[in-house]
Amino acid sequence: MEKREQLYEGKAKKVFATDDPNLCIVSYKDDATAFNGLKKGTILGKGAINNRLTNHFMQQMEKAGIPTHFVEELSDRDTVVKRVTIVPLEVIIRNVAAGSFSKRYGVEEGTPLHEPSIEFSYKNDDLGDPLLAEGHIYAMALATREELKTITDYAFKVNELLKAELIADGVELIDFKLEFGKTPDGKIVLADEISPDTCRFWDAKTHEKLDKDRFRRDMGGVEDAYREMLHRILGE
Ligand code: UDP
Repeated sequence: MEKREQLYEGKAKKVFATDDPNLCIVSYKDDATAFNGLKKGTILGKGAINNRLTNHFMQQMEKAGIPTHFVEELSDRDTVVKRVTIVPLEVIIRNVAAGSFSKRYGVEEGTPLHEPSIEFSYKNDDLGDPLLAEGHIYAMALATREELKTITDYAFKVNELLKAELIADGVELIDFKLEFGKTPDGKIVLADEISPDTCRFWDAKTHEKLDKDRFRRDMGGVEDAYREMLHRILGE
């Protein structure tokens, strides 16, 4: 399978057409951004690590019955995925208070939540991905009730599966963001990525951060954290 014209360039990935209209190729970059693009940088080796980790997690989800866009890993950075239209929602699941949750509600980072929570943001960079009330999703026809139910069910199931796998490798899953796509026949599938860019991973014992917060907060050891996650999950 070969890359044809570039369809899209995002902050961390490029998407290319292929000769098959139902497939595209995602190419992961080392570029990193935070705070809606205000902070920019490079995390050496990130693209390859996020490609490997995402594909691993996507395959685990498939095995457990959650449909995904994953088709085939082509190389270090490139993966064939199903061509989908992305549902313009950022789906965030939280197990432990951190980041914007801690800030918004004044709950100290690291406080375990009474139960996992789900929230939705409007995927729109110009607006800074604003938080959505459920009714606003239907008012703007971003998803139907049925689609949102499917997305919610899948997202909580991903949480349980990921949490269980990660804790076996000494990693606590604090929170994460998912995106879903719609295939031409209207099926909802898990899309985008599952990586240290989009999840908060803490060492279960020391609570050391093993994710993009090291970049966002200028903590140093960013590359090492990504490599550590690759090592813990895939033994590489
Ligand atoms: N997240 C993401 N992309 C975004 C916003 C959040 O991948 O545009 C992830 C983030 O890495 C974290 C989770 O979603 O794992 C929750 O992020 P939060 O709402 O706390 O926002 P942040 O503190 O990152 O601004």
